[in-house]
Amino acid sequence: MARRLLAALAALLTLGLGAATLGLLWAHLEMRGLDPELPDPEALWSPPSSSPLPVRIHVLDTARQPMPRRLVLEPGLDRHPDAPYEMSHPAFLLEWPDGRALLVDAGMDREGALAFGRPLEWAGAGPISPRRSVAEAWGAALAGRPVGVVFTHLHPDHVEGAVALCAALPAGSAIRWLQTSLQAERTNYTTRPGRALLEKARCLVPERLADAPLAPLPGFPGVFVMRTAGHTPGSQAILAWVEGAAGVRGYLFVGDAANAADGIFDDVPKPRLYRWLVVPESEPRQRRVRRFLRAAARGPLQLVVSHDGRYLDSSGIPVWDE
Ligand SMILES: [Zn+2]
Repeated sequence: MARRLLAALAALLTLGLGAATLGLLWAHLEMRGLDPELPDPEALWSPPSSSPLPVRIHVLDTARQPMPRRLVLEPGLDRHPDAPYEMSHPAFLLEWPDGRALLVDAGMDREGALAFGRPLEWAGAGPISPRRSVAEAWGAALAGRPVGVVFTHLHPDHVEGAVALCAALPAGSAIRWLQTSLQAERTNYTTRPGRALLEKARCLVPERLADAPLAPLPGFPGVFVMRTAGHTPGSQAILAWVEGAAGVRGYLFVGDAANAADGIFDDVPKPRLYRWLVVPESEPRQRRVRRFLRAAARGPLQLVVSHDGRYLDSSGIPVWDE
């Protein structure tokens, strides 16, 4: 009897493992198949004639977690494996002179951040420190204004904050959620939880962007979206030109194309285990995206790598402290 039970359990386990392996292979194949056209990097180097440009940019880091670089860069290829690294979870706010506002990503809430940081702690990271959420920082400031949001991709650590933000806005408020068709239509098991969260963000009104290598955001002059894919099917980079007191400056939000800026500049992929098993990425596509971003960064642009906290601190983007 016991033997039969064990045999049945072993068969179930084998079936389960087989199904998981097939699912993973399928996700990899799907990611490999996504190779949308990227713009000419030099097309990103001059501000558009469209106006008015946003006049303010701020960053709100919703959580921080120190960890060894081997958790974000392939250890054998990292030229500075002992350099300190802090994982940030930022949201950005762009503001136009007439009060229009655009969020780039929404970060996490306290609970979400604690849950996100825990498995990384098991892998050797320090404790995660949740900070202020977008609802806490921007809920009151955005009430009654025309607001949009664009997500670099739909993983929970980039979208969760939108749920509480919607709840913090006055009843009937709407936030335009602008996305490319790839992000709107293509899902895999890594983006499904983020999508499920966004269904609870009642104020979001989805809108589709033009399918173009560099798609302008209607109603938000000076901002463009490009399809990077590679990390998730709907991964996007966002280019924003901001007219500050010191002149016009271009920012390129690259999301999770790399988790450390050195991944882009030294062409180092994420750790194998991560890109094979945790988040199935297309490494050929990621390599192409990194090359594109390196070329773009030769121009007058500031790269903004979501999870590289120290690089973010050196970006010159003012921190929201109101
Ligand atoms: Zn992320």
